[in-house]
Amino acid sequence: MSDLDVCQSCGACCASLRVSFHRSQLESEGGCVPDGLADEETGETCRMQGTDRYPPRCVALVGKVGEKVHCGIYEYRPDPCREFAADGLFGVRNAECTRVRGRHGLPPLVKD
Ligand code: SF4
Ligand code: SF4
Repeated sequence: MSDLDVCQSCGACCASLRVSFHRSQLESEGGCVPDGLADEETGETCRMQGTDRYPPRCVALVGKVGEKVHCGIYEYRPDPCREFAADGLFGVRNAECTRVRGRHGLPPLVKD
């Protein structure tokens, strides 16, 4: 999730997708993601807690999806969160953004 206004009234990706990342991004391994918010997944990877539950919701997400949200560890979030951009941002399409928004009853950001 980014800090765009549109994302701060959405949060659907943080409440839909499994967020896995290499364990080198953990604070204890020299990265920035707080260890206490991540579960070990494999020997090499971790995932944000809550993102493999049903319904999924990252433990770091604060607020109500579709209304007002923010990432509680924004400065320290893992790479997949930094790389997941709102559909249409800088002209780049992201069909996953549209799909997960739809799961939460939110309209597409870009009209095709
Ligand atoms: S689903 Fe798209 S619009 Fe919603 S928070 Fe994620 S990137 Fe932003
Ligand atoms: S760490 Fe932040 S941006 Fe990443 S899934 Fe969790 S709430 Fe969303």
